[in-house]
Amino acid sequence: MSFFIKKLILLIALSFTVFCTGPDSRPAVDILITNARIVDGTGNPWYRGSVAVAGDRIQAVGPRLETAARRTIDAGDMVVAPGFIDFHNHCDRGLFNNPDAENFLRQGVTTLIGGPDGGSAVDMGTFLADLDTLPLAVNAAFTVGQGSVRKEVMGLADRAPTEAELETMKKLVARAMEQGAIGISTGLKYVPGAYSSTEEIIELSKVAASYGGFYTSHLREEGPGLLESVQEAIRIAEEAGIPVNLTHHKAVGKLMWGKSTETLKMLEQARARGLDITCDQYPYTATSTGLAVLFPPWCLAGGRDSLLARLDNPELRAKIAEKVIYALEYDRGGDDPINVAIASCKFDPSLEGKNLRQILEERSLEPTLTHAAELIFELLRKGEVSCIYHCLNEEDVERIMRHQCTMHASDGTVLPFGEGVPHPRSYGTFPRILGEYVRKRKILTLEEAVRKMTSLPAQRAGLLDRGVIRPGSFADLVIFDPDRVIDRATFGDPHQYPEGIETVILNGEVTFEDGHLTDHRPGRALRAKRKNL
Ligand SMILES: [Zn+2]
Repeated sequence: MSFFIKKLILLIALSFTVFCTGPDSRPAVDILITNARIVDGTGNPWYRGSVAVAGDRIQAVGPRLETAARRTIDAGDMVVAPGFIDFHNHCDRGLFNNPDAENFLRQGVTTLIGGPDGGSAVDMGTFLADLDTLPLAVNAAFTVGQGSVRKEVMGLADRAPTEAELETMKKLVARAMEQGAIGISTGLKYVPGAYSSTEEIIELSKVAASYGGFYTSHLREEGPGLLESVQEAIRIAEEAGIPVNLTHHKAVGKLMWGKSTETLKMLEQARARGLDITCDQYPYTATSTGLAVLFPPWCLAGGRDSLLARLDNPELRAKIAEKVIYALEYDRGGDDPINVAIASCKFDPSLEGKNLRQILEERSLEPTLTHAAELIFELLRKGEVSCIYHCLNEEDVERIMRHQCTMHASDGTVLPFGEGVPHPRSYGTFPRILGEYVRKRKILTLEEAVRKMTSLPAQRAGLLDRGVIRPGSFADLVIFDPDRVIDRATFGDPHQYPEGIETVILNGEVTFEDGHLTDHRPGRALRAKRKNL
């Protein structure tokens, strides 16, 4: 059936919407989605049927549901799936400026999981209460960031904590977990997480584990040092007794390409020993983060002013340059300044979208790694810059994606439309999986891909009443056309919404249809459900 005929059927169905006013004639359900291919999130094959929604929950699912509904939506043989859950999202601050999270809503995402890479609010109670006041168009749940907790107690000091400091950090993690955090995150490549020993992380993870939380980590290294870093995460799982997730799993830099074979084997061996380990991934061959990722942690101690002072010291500057050049050659720099592009640059937006090779050539400089390192020092001195690093290999991306334990996640953030030249993952991750990797490349079946973006992240996050289509679950649903769904955002032109996502329902209310957001904002700040609740 062509898209237009499907659309016509949908419109006709909508025009037969029934509204009942009297208490006796009130329909049993609020929304009845009929004529759907139900992909229920479990990985089971799709089946044809209807989904009935009453209030904020799914009331019934089945091949032939006959019930009066306030509103009937004919899915026109399209797919109905649980709303997608983004397991790695930098939405924490962004939601306050963009509570619609439109770039995720339009992908069919209904729940964002924030607080990644060791960064979150430390006072989770106040943060979640503030979120409660926002007109959210998505749900959001959060991990507590170990880096933020450490910074609150120790600043950016490059040393081990005292016993008293460790106790304070443990109390802060416990408080955040009590206030509703769903787990603990680390960013061991970033400061101050990079200054934490494995033992320190284990102590804090034990606290999160005692509340039923999980541990998710941006590993200490994702390029050279990747295997040791996976080993460290496995040790944390074992010694802290906590479920572990390797977040945005990848193998950075040519030296490491192909190493995902080994990391996935390590994950499987650990699971065989009874350790509960998973990973997540975004479907692109480029990463995105600040310039600091190219610097050795020791030179970032004390913060930005301290780094600039070190760069003023010729001896230290030479040492730092050596490490930055190494990172450009073998790690995130991808061995050519062309592989590092400016995503956002507040002090000079004209640089956004340009790569370091272009900038050097415009200045009539040889595009060497040494010149690139000098340019990076200069940019850093002027202000905040975030970059896109083309340093991954498609074979690793596909290998990790196929693994049973991998969730699809964006690592993106809620964005104001049109600002800067950000990584396209914030606009395209989920439709890209469904269009590019399921329909075109056939890397995954549709059902498996949906599982990895619904029930698997829900299970890992402890959001057990979401992520599957079954009676009693929250009615977070997406209707999409499996023949058309595709991302449109590219590295050159990222501000483009995807195609083929037709309708999004959040907590039982339609939030997106006919290409537009509706007036409903039923999103919630989700708290972890604890034992005895
Ligand atoms: Zn990260």
